[in-house]
Amino acid sequence: MLFNLFKKKKCKICGTMTKEEFYIDNKIFGNEHSEITSSKSVKKYLCRGHLIEEFKKSFLAFPKNMIVFHPELEMVCKNLYSYYTLSDLKACNFDNTIINNSEKLLSKIKGKCSRCDSEAQILYFSKGVLKYHNYIPQIENINFEDGKLYCSKHGLESIISDLQTNKSIFNEGLYAPFRDSGVYISTYL
Ligand SMILES: [Zn+2]
Ligand SMILES: [Zn+2]
Repeated sequence: MLFNLFKKKKCKICGTMTKEEFYIDNKIFGNEHSEITSSKSVKKYLCRGHLIEEFKKSFLAFPKNMIVFHPELEMVCKNLYSYYTLSDLKACNFDNTIINNSEKLLSKIKGKCSRCDSEAQILYFSKGVLKYHNYIPQIENINFEDGKLYCSKHGLESIISDLQTNKSIFNEGLYAPFRDSGVYISTYL
């Protein structure tokens, strides 16, 4: 029944009741398209504190490059912040222009972080840079020059406080980065 969808569950770590979900792979495809063995669940329930803690850990440990669009939690998606690999974008039938531009932007992540000496791993676009048309993100119009190159630490620093203070519940999921290079974005698609 519908009201059961967002039922409270126990935080996997501390047992506090929560509706917030941490996704460690794409919820659309589940385990089928991932390298995660089928014995592992794609998501786990966590309280806000542990959700943020787990997000930080997996974000910093992820070895691949990422495009990070600032979470538009109040404007676009208040209940989720999702991660799509390039193959997820293809499988979700995103327009080719979006996929091609994402691929191009990812290929430009090279050199040093703009704030420290670490290797750049993130191309970050601040709040408002990405425009939406009928809730569809216009990634095809994004230019490399509008972003900032960051290491994972400085990329995380740019988004974490908005995630932490989200006034809504992440009942559709806060995503860990997974599998391959990809895009962090606020979208219900
Ligand atoms: Zn907890
Ligand atoms: Zn840095």
